[in-house]
Amino acid sequence: MEILYRSTRSDAAPIKASQAILQGLSEDGGLFVPTSVPKLDRSFAELARMSYQEVAYEVMKLMLTDYTEEELRDCIARAYDSKFDTEEIVPFAEADGAYYMELFHGPTIAFKDMALSILPHLMITAARKNHEEKEIVILTATSGDTGKAALAGFAGVEGTKIIVFYPKNGVSPIQERQMVTQQGDNTCVIGIHGNFDDAQTGVKKIFTDSAMKEEMAKKGYQFSSANSINIGRLVPQIVYYCYAYSRLLKEERIADGDAVNFVVPTGNFGNILAAYYAGLMGVPVHRLICASNSNKVLYDFFQTGEYDRNREFMLTSSPSMDILISSNLERLIYHIAGDDAAKDAALMKDLSEKGVYEITPQMREKLGLFVGGYATEEETAQAIRELYEDTGYVIDPHTAVARHVYETYRKDTKDETVSVIASTASPFKFEGSVMKALGKYEEIPDLDLADRLSAIADVAVPEAVESLRGAQVRHTTVCGKDEMEAQVRRFLGL
Ligand SMILES: *Cc1c(COP(=O)(O)O)cnc(C)c1O
Repeated sequence: MEILYRSTRSDAAPIKASQAILQGLSEDGGLFVPTSVPKLDRSFAELARMSYQEVAYEVMKLMLTDYTEEELRDCIARAYDSKFDTEEIVPFAEADGAYYMELFHGPTIAFKDMALSILPHLMITAARKNHEEKEIVILTATSGDTGKAALAGFAGVEGTKIIVFYPKNGVSPIQERQMVTQQGDNTCVIGIHGNFDDAQTGVKKIFTDSAMKEEMAKKGYQFSSANSINIGRLVPQIVYYCYAYSRLLKEERIADGDAVNFVVPTGNFGNILAAYYAGLMGVPVHRLICASNSNKVLYDFFQTGEYDRNREFMLTSSPSMDILISSNLERLIYHIAGDDAAKDAALMKDLSEKGVYEITPQMREKLGLFVGGYATEEETAQAIRELYEDTGYVIDPHTAVARHVYETYRKDTKDETVSVIASTASPFKFEGSVMKALGKYEEIPDLDLADRLSAIADVAVPEAVESLRGAQVRHTTVCGKDEMEAQVRRFLGL
């Protein structure tokens, strides 16, 4: 069955997967969604005997139907290789009655690697298939992790350039250092005086500016996106939920058919949306637990049905979740509106004009799978400390938000369903906050602190951090949030 992709905001004709990946965002500002969601055609018992790469193929072949088997297998082999520090690609750790799905064993030690190590290959293949001659310019806003993972994926890739905007004071020291030391002549990294939402809004504006698009075309350039609005990010993320289920089955933690909970530390709603699609594809899901930090706009949404971004933006110890406009929620809104683009477009208009929208009671009824929760800064630190004291296992602040929300949920509901917590970053990426939570912080250089954490956690310092020792800073530009377009023009010579 061929799966096509259509916009959440208009009834424009659907396009093929490779075209949606190339384009990133629909011209009407909407996001691409599959016109239908296929069911897995392998049993979980079969998947349980497969490697991560094989499961990836079984899932992605169903969603990216205009890629040939050879193309897809090639993209998968190039993405999930020795860049990951474990052959399993995604290992699991059991601690305190939950399973931690460690999604941070890729080159930049955050879960964004799961999708961004394959996106460049999907995109170049898409360009070839569609006889696209133009050079692809990846324009990306990052709250810290996407930027580096996208840079690592696209650096040196022929036929592409990548420009990354990050909030100058909104990322961790290791995150910033990872980005500003990025090599590759096709890369450009810029800090902005603003927060992630400013960066994301700026990027979206440049993207949908038709005059800019024309100028770009004249110069032989075309924009695309590496943000989680790109369907090429979402699809690879469905894989690990299917893989998780098959592993639990293989290790006899569940019987085939048992429903499980997934707990996902959430910002832009991409990761948890992938879990939702995995459910539609046939993974038995009991609850999807959406964990927020103090920027708890999603928690409030699940409580009330009203999405209200008019509130103070908080900088937290889980910066990759410091977001008030969760872009991917739009895809869920579209689906619960009964795949109604006009309805979705009206709500998104409210969001952009008033900063708030409210869904109907009928739409709310369709959110039964979701539970929202949040953790304050103190609760996040406590979750890190408690888990370490109980088990010796050290988690990063994003994962700690999820752990806190899960523990609270379990206490409140007495739900003992087998639960998988998406562990989205290595603690080494946020070592300052982790060491503070453990009461072991010292004012010493980042990389010395990494050595201390290594001794405490009994885990080697990841190569991604090791390689920062002595790395040269190559990107120093910082600009105002109104100067983003000018910076893009400068880099591209427009
Ligand atoms: C991006 C990110 C998140 C949030 O994921 P979304 O898909 O944006 O909801 C959570 N944790 C970490 C470490 C991240 O990098």
